[in-house]
Amino acid sequence: MSVLDRLRALLPKNACLSGPAQLLVYECDALTHFRTRPLAVVFPASTEDVQSIVRICRDEGVPFTPRGAGTGLSGGATPAEGGVLIELSRMNRVLSIDAESRLAVVQPGLINAHLSDAARPYGLHYAPDPSSQTACSLGGNVAENAGGPHGLKYGSTERHVLAVKAVLSDGRVVMLGHPTGTSHGLDLRGLFLGSEGTLGIATELVVRLTPNPEVTETLLAPFRTLRPACEAVSTLIREGISAAAIEALDDRTIAAVEASVFRAGYPTDAGAVLLIEFDGTEEDVGESVARTRALLEAAGAMSISSTRDPEQRKVLWRGRKGAFGAMGRLAPDLYVQDAVVPRTKLPEVLEKVCAICDAHGLRLANVFHAGDGNLHPNISYDGRDPDEVERVVRAGREIIEACLAVGGSLSGEHGIGLEKQEFMPLLFNDDDLDAMKRVRDVFDPTRLMNPGKVIPTPRACTETRPPKAVGT
Ligand SMILES: Cc1cc2nc3c(=O)[nH]c(=O)nc-3n(C[C@H](O)[C@H](O)[C@H](O)COP(=O)(O)OP(=O)(O)OC[C@H]3O[C@@H](n4cnc5c(N)ncnc54)[C@H](O)[C@@H]3O)c2cc1C
Repeated sequence: MSVLDRLRALLPKNACLSGPAQLLVYECDALTHFRTRPLAVVFPASTEDVQSIVRICRDEGVPFTPRGAGTGLSGGATPAEGGVLIELSRMNRVLSIDAESRLAVVQPGLINAHLSDAARPYGLHYAPDPSSQTACSLGGNVAENAGGPHGLKYGSTERHVLAVKAVLSDGRVVMLGHPTGTSHGLDLRGLFLGSEGTLGIATELVVRLTPNPEVTETLLAPFRTLRPACEAVSTLIREGISAAAIEALDDRTIAAVEASVFRAGYPTDAGAVLLIEFDGTEEDVGESVARTRALLEAAGAMSISSTRDPEQRKVLWRGRKGAFGAMGRLAPDLYVQDAVVPRTKLPEVLEKVCAICDAHGLRLANVFHAGDGNLHPNISYDGRDPDEVERVVRAGREIIEACLAVGGSLSGEHGIGLEKQEFMPLLFNDDDLDAMKRVRDVFDPTRLMNPGKVIPTPRACTETRPPKAVGT
C-alpha cells in the first residue's frame, strides 16, 4: 500500500485531500513566494490520529509538516516536496476552563481570539494578541512563540503556555512542562516553544488566562515625521513608562488603512502615529497617561487624544490590526519582514530600510511594535513579476543585514521558517548551529519532521530540498 492508500484507509474521506485543486491552497503560508505542492493534506481529529499519521509517514520515509491556520509569515508551514501536510484546524476545542486557577486546556487548532471569547464570562482573557489573532491557531502561536502589540507588557506566548502535549516523530506522546507552571528536570517546554514544528506536533495545550484589567486607556499621537515618533518611544522607555503596548504606523500605512474598511480615523496629514495603551488600576493608568502626555508633547506630537470607550478603542486598534489587510489593496502580494533592533536604533534603521527599498524600486510601508524595537517593513509587490520578486528577496536580505549591523536579531515573532534559515549563520557560529542540529536530531533522528526549516542543514538522504522563492 502506498502512503496515500494508508492515509485514506486511516481517515474519513473528507480528512485526506490529494486532488490538485484541493492542494493548491496549501502550497504556501502567508509568505506566498515560497510554494510547494504536498502529496496530501490530512486533518486529524485527535492525538491518536496524529500518532497514526506520523507513524505512517515514518514507515514510508515521507516528510511531514504540521500546519495550523497557515498565517505564518516565514514559510514555516510550507510543505516539503512530496510530503504530507498535517493540518490541525479541526482539533479546535476548548477542553476546559478552570477560572479559579486561571487555566485553560485547549486543542492546538483553536483560533487565538476564540479562547478570549470563551474566557470572557469569567472576566479573563488570553493575553498574547498577534494582529492575526482572529485567524491564527494557538498551536501555530506555540510553534512560533508568537508575540503581538501587548507583548510589551505581557510577554510573548512563551510566558502563557504552561504545558504542551506533543507527538514526536516516532509517534510517541510526551507531556512537556506541567499545568502548575512549576518546572522539574530539563525545561523541554521552553525548548518546544518557538521550535516551528521541527521537534514535535502539539496536540493539547495548558495555557494561562489573565484577568481583564480594571481600566484600559488608549492614546493616539500623530507626529510630522517618523523620526520624532521613534525618538519619543525611546524617551518613554527611558523614563520608565510601563505601557501595555506602543505601536507605530508610518504615513504610507496610515494612507492604506484610511482608504480601507479598517479605517480608524488616523490623521492622514501625519508622517507617523503612535498608538499607546495602558491598563491596570484607575490610579496607575491615570498617572501613566498624564506622564506620557507630557513626554509626547515635549517630543513634538502634533496632538494627543485618548479614550477609555471600548468602542472607540476597538476602532483605533482595528486600524493597527488590519494594517496588513489594508495593504492587500495596494498590490497582489505583500512581503512582511520581521526583525528586531535596539529601540534607540529605530530612527536610523528605518531610514536605512527606506533607502534599501527605494534603491530596489519597491513600495514600502512600516507598521511595527515600536516598544519592542520589532520592525515590520512591508513591501507590496506583484508575485507574477519574477524580477520584482527577486528585488523583494534581495531587499529582505539587505534589511536583515542592516538590523544585524546595529546589534539586532533575525526575527521578533514570525520565526525563521524557510525564509531566514540561510541567514542563521549571520547570527550564529558553527558551534551554535551544531548544538541546535544535535538537539533537533534527538527529537527527530529521521529528519522527516518539517524538514528544511529553521536550521540550515546539509541535507540527509531522507531530506527534501527546501523550495526556492517563486520567480528567483
Ligand atoms: C495579517 C497578519 C498579522 C500577523 N501579526 C502577527 C503578530 O502580531 N505577531 C506574531 O507573532 N505573528 C503575527 N503574524 C504571523 C502568524 O500569524 C503567526 O506566526 C502565527 O503564530 C501562526 O499561526 P498559524 O496557526 O497560522 O500557524 P501556521 O502558519 O500554520 O504554522 C506556523 C508554524 O507553526 C508550525 N505549527 C503549526 N501548528 C503546529 C502544531 N500544532 N504543533 C507544532 N507545530 C505547529 C508549522 O509547522 C509552522 O512552522 C501575522 C500574520 C498575518 C498574516
